[in-house]
Amino acid sequence: MNKDFAVIGLGRFGGSICRTLAELGKDVLAIDLNEERVNEFSTIASHAVSGDSTDEAMLRSIGIRNFDHVIVAIGEDIQSSILTTLILKELGVRNVTAKAQNDYHEKVLRKIGADHVVHPERDMGIRIANNMASNNVLDYLALSDEHSIVEFVASEKIGGRTILDLDIRKKYGVNIVAIKRGSQIIVSPQAKEVIQANDVLIAIGNDSDLDKFERKVIQ
Ligand code: ATP
Repeated sequence: MNKDFAVIGLGRFGGSICRTLAELGKDVLAIDLNEERVNEFSTIASHAVSGDSTDEAMLRSIGIRNFDHVIVAIGEDIQSSILTTLILKELGVRNVTAKAQNDYHEKVLRKIGADHVVHPERDMGIRIANNMASNNVLDYLALSDEHSIVEFVASEKIGGRTILDLDIRKKYGVNIVAIKRGSQIIVSPQAKEVIQANDVLIAIGNDSDLDKFERKVIQ
């Protein structure tokens, strides 16, 4: 599927999004007030323009409503971030992702219609704390307030046992969606799959079920 992206604000966060989308071969329009930043991205993004995103006429003139996804990566200037998001939604941009600086900012962005709100500093803090809190958790991704995907390292204790044998789904309400074994990835492993010590089990479920699974099976 071909998708066009526009990134407004080329700080560390917006710049990193812009670079990654370009590396993934996506068409990206980079927009910033600051000419130097725009020049820096002129060779990275498909197009780069300087302009103030709180200026509705400027956004109309570049045809912003034709973009499938617009990312508002303005951080410090909360007023500009809010006004830009509001104009984008009023102009009919279907997917607007906005970066929030704090909880109040996030609340306002949601209220005015931002389709996705990201809070990178807070979310990364939660992720790192979860990773540090357990020796068996390699990585963690919150899907909602109650559901997550967690990567657990299989201990010696469960090495040699099958998913069926451990009765993971029925007993703990947790689904193993993949197993990483060295460089091999087993997607949707079957119940008869024998788990080996040091396998990485990628599990999805309710947070309390995942917690129970970790305490009873993994540790
Ligand atoms: P990061 O942490 O990602 O570096 P930040 O949170 O410090 O960013 P800012 O530096 O405030 O965010 O903003 C990121 C970029 O957004 C800057 O390059 C700034 O010039 C640009 N920017 C701010 N306001 C506007 C605006 N109204 N229109 C276009 N670009 C803007």
